[in-house]
Amino acid sequence: MNEQNRKPAPRRGASARGSGSSSGASARPAGAQGGAPKKPKKKGGAKRVWANIGRVLVVLVSIGVIVASVLAVMLSLYVVKVTANDASLLNLENLKLSYSSTIYAIDPQTGKPEPYQRLVDNADRIWVDGNQIPDNLKNAFIAVEDKTFRENSGVNFKRTISATANLVLSRLTGGRITLYDTEQGASTITQQLIKNITGDDDRDPLRKVREIFRAISLNGRYSKDTILEAYLNTVGFMGNTCGVQACAYNLYDKDVGQLTLAQCATVAAITNNPTKYNPRTEPENNLQRRNMILGMMLEQGLITQADHDAAVAEPLNLVDPSEKQNTAKVGGNSYFTDMVIDEVITDLVNEGICETRSEASALLFNGGLAIYSTVDTNLQSIMEEVMAKEPGNYYPDQEVEYKDKATGETKTQNVQGAMITIDYTGAVKGVVGGLGEKTADRGLNRAVGSLRQTGSTMKPIGAYALGIDYNYITYSDGGFIDDWVEEINDNGTMRKWPRNYSGKYTEQRMLVCDALANSINTIAVRVGKLVGPDDLFDFMTNTLGITSLVENRTEANGLISSDIGVGPLVLGSMTDGVSLAEMAHAYMMFGDGGTVTPLHSYTTVENVQTGEIVLDNTLLPTTRAIGEDTAMIMNKLLRQVITRGTAAGTGTNTIAGMETVGKTGTTSDDKDHWFIGLTPYYVTATWMGYDQPQELAWKAYGKHPPTLAWKEVMERAQEGLEAKNFPTAPANTVVTKTYCTESGGEAGPLCPSTATGYYKADQPLEPCDIHVG
Ligand SMILES: [Zn+2]
Repeated sequence: MNEQNRKPAPRRGASARGSGSSSGASARPAGAQGGAPKKPKKKGGAKRVWANIGRVLVVLVSIGVIVASVLAVMLSLYVVKVTANDASLLNLENLKLSYSSTIYAIDPQTGKPEPYQRLVDNADRIWVDGNQIPDNLKNAFIAVEDKTFRENSGVNFKRTISATANLVLSRLTGGRITLYDTEQGASTITQQLIKNITGDDDRDPLRKVREIFRAISLNGRYSKDTILEAYLNTVGFMGNTCGVQACAYNLYDKDVGQLTLAQCATVAAITNNPTKYNPRTEPENNLQRRNMILGMMLEQGLITQADHDAAVAEPLNLVDPSEKQNTAKVGGNSYFTDMVIDEVITDLVNEGICETRSEASALLFNGGLAIYSTVDTNLQSIMEEVMAKEPGNYYPDQEVEYKDKATGETKTQNVQGAMITIDYTGAVKGVVGGLGEKTADRGLNRAVGSLRQTGSTMKPIGAYALGIDYNYITYSDGGFIDDWVEEINDNGTMRKWPRNYSGKYTEQRMLVCDALANSINTIAVRVGKLVGPDDLFDFMTNTLGITSLVENRTEANGLISSDIGVGPLVLGSMTDGVSLAEMAHAYMMFGDGGTVTPLHSYTTVENVQTGEIVLDNTLLPTTRAIGEDTAMIMNKLLRQVITRGTAAGTGTNTIAGMETVGKTGTTSDDKDHWFIGLTPYYVTATWMGYDQPQELAWKAYGKHPPTLAWKEVMERAQEGLEAKNFPTAPANTVVTKTYCTESGGEAGPLCPSTATGYYKADQPLEPCDIHVG
């Protein structure tokens, strides 16, 4: 193209001016016209000649109009075709989202999703809202890049025509003649934004046309402020640095809102040529352009003379990259955010949407996903506050030494804790995976990622639940007096097993309701044996969905581990342990009438650009684990733990006017302390212990740290909630009866002490056999 144009142009171009056209495209008709006037000079008959010329002109003009019309139609068709997808491509509301993904939480007041956290995995790109960008920075860009920005239609036609003429002239003369400094491009801020979003290269003339149309269209659809916000967030700087906020942190280690006027001008100076005006490598170039911009701002009335003079005198004042303090601005995830991220990544792989976790991670962080989470932001922040309290408030401050297994070094550790709260749909409402200040994104979340022995919290979900469900026991069955078996210790001596937590064997008769309330091991094991370890294991693994129980595993030392036994499945001394999350999930059935629904931290994940639902948790299956009658009886049994059992005296009888039920758990040598508490709204599992299991001296400190922490969380979270009761079984399926607290049988007139128990309607209750006449 260039070679063809260059030859004839110098001759014909000279007469082109006379044609009245300022466009290079009219060079050909002008040339024809230039040849015409030569004829009448040789011959006479000027009138006819002029008439002929007139006709020729009419024909030429007509041809020109037709050609122009055809070109216009073709151009229109072209523009329509190439801008067909612009509605979504140039959607500035979605730009912020497509930049990164966002986790939403439902606002309890409005029921609508509100942004909870924006996910950014790249410190070089940080979105900042327009109202947080200082006017000086906006004005610096406007002054140097597009001074008519506030008034123009998205395109500066005067500059575009000049630049086109400049380009043509430059090409025709092989670059020897130019009218303007080519660095002063014709692109407005709107056009530059389109380039930033689409990646289009405007050196192609057709693409330039497309860009102009798009700019006008964008200008019609959005306010100047929205366009400027989008531009300032997508404009490129040194290296991968993108957007003014990332640039502010890169150069000055501070929020863009804190930049001085001079610093604003330095930032605006870079864009034109990030290599040439990089203030770190080319400080002189940058200073020169910075001061030029300050001069333009003064000239355009955007700053005062005094501001200008002060700014020009200011040195660059860049922060040494090694001394940056605020680079961790990106992130600051809550434990909940960490949990959602991991769940979405896992599901993207499991659903076959991504092949690898790293692919899923890239999609999550950069794919413009809207993740509608289940978090209750109020509950989450209450949990964070309670768990962040100084050691010694709820949780003991007890630093102990331990030996690192890998290195043999002696290290120290302090008490740790975690808490997770779910509702009865399986939705995670809040989670905190450690005590004190959270120091890392996606570090250890003990509520989800730590497997701990569960101690007595295991008893209800296996032995007692199935014992009642299978009609093996009733609420007040008794007679399991001191039921132990003799087992052979490792050293060959005989021992009585199981031992109760107190270390004592009682000779008295013990009822099921009392045994559960006081967490008596011997009774629980007896019930577990009635159900059978195989049934317990199957129920916990397949129905309750506990994933960490070991069926049969050969360890490195050649020994075989198996959790199929009453020790692991009733007393919670399993091989690896169970997470808080899975324990909370298992306990759901005691507060919702006997069903479980899979835990989830989000409902749907949507691709904002396409509107496509990528992941959907709204139709998770609800499984009936135990009968409604069993669930109600178990709920009443767990109520005894609070009113007169191991959690009595903690002030948790009712919370915010609502009933509570729960179960404590302590593992051997006091290495783990659990509490799982239920209200009509929530199930919460809490735990404390050392990361490297060691004895907790918590009793010396005070009673029930996890229970008291739960109490404060629930009191605050349920404040103002409508009072609710736990569900009851269908009418006439569960009946109340008065039982003798000594025998457990139905109380007669001679029984000295009685209480109310809950029984399946079709289960008979024998009369008291002690206090008979
Ligand atoms: Zn009696």
